[in-house]
Amino acid sequence: SLTIAIIGSGQLARMMALEGISMGYHFTFLHEEGEDKSAVLDLGHIVTVDVKQHSAEQIYTLLGKPDVVTVEKEHVDAGMLEGLNQFCPVYPSIKAIRISQNRKSEKEFIQSQGIEVAPWHPVNDIDSLTEAGTRLGWPVILKTCSEGYDGKGQWFLNSLEEGSKVLEEVSSDIEFIAEQPISFSKEVSIVCARDQHGNIVHYDISENIHSNGILHYSIVPARNIKTETQNKAKKIAEAMLTGLEYIGVLSIEFFVVGDDLMVNEFAPRVHNSGHWTQQGARTSQFLNHVRAISGQEVASTERFGPAAMINLLGQAPLKKHMIDSALHVHWYNKTIKANRKVGHINMSLSDIESLMVKLEQTLKDYQQ
Ligand code: ATP
Ligand code: MG
Ligand code: MG
Repeated sequence: SLTIAIIGSGQLARMMALEGISMGYHFTFLHEEGEDKSAVLDLGHIVTVDVKQHSAEQIYTLLGKPDVVTVEKEHVDAGMLEGLNQFCPVYPSIKAIRISQNRKSEKEFIQSQGIEVAPWHPVNDIDSLTEAGTRLGWPVILKTCSEGYDGKGQWFLNSLEEGSKVLEEVSSDIEFIAEQPISFSKEVSIVCARDQHGNIVHYDISENIHSNGILHYSIVPARNIKTETQNKAKKIAEAMLTGLEYIGVLSIEFFVVGDDLMVNEFAPRVHNSGHWTQQGARTSQFLNHVRAISGQEVASTERFGPAAMINLLGQAPLKKHMIDSALHVHWYNKTIKANRKVGHINMSLSDIESLMVKLEQTLKDYQQ
């Protein structure tokens, strides 16, 4: 048997562990003080530490000398990962994690692969914001370079005046990028994986509908996307997996503009837009990640039929949805807070028309 240590203790860690446990693997979780660990209670040993207070060797020992370390989030201490890597493999590559931690290095890497991104400009003070406005035109979207998720750390700025107010309110050492707002027709993502034998697989492209910067629901396959555009997404996925010497699941978010794609960002991990694979595909994204990092070959990503996923954002599932045989409710055991991802509902139907009817009904039930 194998011991896998996961950095993080949220729902992604939970769902990876649930798959690995079925193969007899053991899990330990590195949990930071103040984080919610309820999603992984009972799934393995939870180690709570202040990472800065311990050496890598101490953390490695506390984690039960795992055979492999992986992450459920990109915002982790990369120095600690380098340290752990002295004792056991860390997947995906630390390089990929480092690049994705900073929007500037992320954009630069994507562009270096010949892939298009939204026009952007680095910002750290009023002068560089003025420059950004001149180069990109107003309005712009200001994003912190690090730590942002679910649309946090972002401001839609109509003018330099609005921007200067934001800059006055935040600490002067924070780095930003300004981005041109893209009028995309839709947002899609691809979840792909590469194993230690060099095999690459990808799932069908997901159409993602956000509300207030948070993923609300996904539909797979993404509707009205030309084969040519889908092939572009696959090519980009392959280029990035290879360019990053990647092992495990990688997720890439795109804006669709005409028949073209712009990469918004990538996540070096399993992704919310891939949760449908739990019931909708032959092998879930969580299982494929665990397979890849534990030395197995990645397995079939074949989709059974049209699928959808709805995030439960700060709401418990309704009883009528729990008992509905067409719906699969996933609950993370977390404390309910406004807009927090506390669970999701998967559905997989035989045709797209009935899927859309079921999806719309289910969504409606959560609108108040
Ligand atoms: P995640 O939780 O996916 O990591 P995040 O906080 O890193 O999110 P982004 O993915 O950059 O943030 O942005 C969140 C959402 O805001 C996007 O999915 C998109 O809907 C919108 N958005 C971001 N950048 C742009 C842009 N340049 N033009 C138009 N919309 C944008
Ligand atoms: Mg992000
Ligand atoms: Mg995003």
